[in-house]
Amino acid sequence: MIWRVFRFFLFQLAGALVGYFALTLAQAEHRVIVGILVASMAWVLIDLRRGQKLRSWLREGDTSRPPVIPGYWGEMADRVRRLVRIRDRKLIESEQRLQEFLSAIQASPNGVVLLDAEGRIEWCNQTAADHFGFDPQRDLMQQVSNLVRDPQFAAYQAKGDYAHDVVIPGPASSNSRPVRLSVHLHPYGEGRSLMMSRDVTALEQAETMRRDFVANVSHEIRTPLTVLGGFVETMQNLPMDGPERQRYLALMSQQAQRMQTLVNDLLTLSRLEGSPLPRLDEWVDVRALMDTCAQEGRELSMLMTQVGHDITVQIDTDCRIAGSQMELHSAMANLVNNAIRYTPNGGTVTMQWVRHADGSGEFSVTDDGPGIAPEHLPRLTERFYRVDRSRSRETGGTGLGLAIVKHVVQRHGAQLLITSKPGQGARFAITFPASRVQRVGAHASRRDAQAVTA
Ligand code: ADP
Repeated sequence: MIWRVFRFFLFQLAGALVGYFALTLAQAEHRVIVGILVASMAWVLIDLRRGQKLRSWLREGDTSRPPVIPGYWGEMADRVRRLVRIRDRKLIESEQRLQEFLSAIQASPNGVVLLDAEGRIEWCNQTAADHFGFDPQRDLMQQVSNLVRDPQFAAYQAKGDYAHDVVIPGPASSNSRPVRLSVHLHPYGEGRSLMMSRDVTALEQAETMRRDFVANVSHEIRTPLTVLGGFVETMQNLPMDGPERQRYLALMSQQAQRMQTLVNDLLTLSRLEGSPLPRLDEWVDVRALMDTCAQEGRELSMLMTQVGHDITVQIDTDCRIAGSQMELHSAMANLVNNAIRYTPNGGTVTMQWVRHADGSGEFSVTDDGPGIAPEHLPRLTERFYRVDRSRSRETGGTGLGLAIVKHVVQRHGAQLLITSKPGQGARFAITFPASRVQRVGAHASRRDAQAVTA
């Protein structure tokens, strides 16, 4: 500023000198005064012109191309340009941060909707759009209550108590494919709220399954327990002779055995769910396994009936299966036992092993029993699902056998195929992938070994 004042006076001095020497007025002081006045006017005009340049540059708003102005106004232009540049950089940075923030919310597995004080949608992520069927662009600034029309949600919003969530059906929900959404409003700022949504369909299904499971287990245990309790009471209250007493004890033992079998099956299921997957380097001999199951089947058959069943084992290629001996035995034995239990006296049960051309192997059990109606087939592997409840009970079934088979099959990367027609017997087949099947005697080639460890 001092420099500017100094320059102004220098300009006046130059004006005075020019006036003194160049003007032709008689008196010297007049020449000096006129010189100073002209210099002052020139200074003001030049200054105005430069200020004007700066003003039009600022008015244009294009701060990227600053005008070339010397002196004081040039410095002003420079400072303005620098300030604008700093502000622009900050703006870009905060824009970037906002975009990163929005991308993070986009990536969230939960739906997020930002609502303004009037309950209008300011922004929503794709998950929320999928959950509620919003269009993330078209539905912006729409009232959320006009788009989410579930009465439970309307009541929740109206009540204003947002300590808990509300669970509503999704717009795509149907009887065959129910969709359940948990919606939670979180107020923030001045009247705004954050609406979070979560797909809880699987969670609710799991919870229903858990409840059903507990109810089923309780029911299954209560029945023999009630019978057992009744026998104990009878024995306590009635005088009994030896043979009668023995008969009662035998019946009690039968009920205790039933509970024991149920608990064993439950433990097997829970072990299958909780243990690590079967190893790929433990080999189980198919022939030995099938012979054991056939032998156990014959014993069961003799116990059940005097006539027994005709149980045969057919093996086309001796093989080994990579997996758990205990689990594979459990699955095969369950299938053989079912075939015997559901096939009348004298029926035939065929156990078969076939190695396919692609290297996979199929174990199957075929019987000529009553068969199963098609509507039951998809549900057979559900826990406690039985086609004929009384037949299952009579023969000591728990309703868990095929659920165990399904678990074992899945854990070995295999597939279970059930084919049956009422009156024409049933066939249960487990197909093991080539990576888990090896021919006995044939040394594992390099490729086989690699496939197994893969
Ligand atoms: P359960 O202990 O009752 O046998 P499973 O899970 O082993 O339970 O079998 C489920 C149901 O499938 C059985 O109750 C029975 O109705 C039916 N089932 C299983 N195997 C056969 C079969 N070989 N023939 C006819 N029905 C069968």
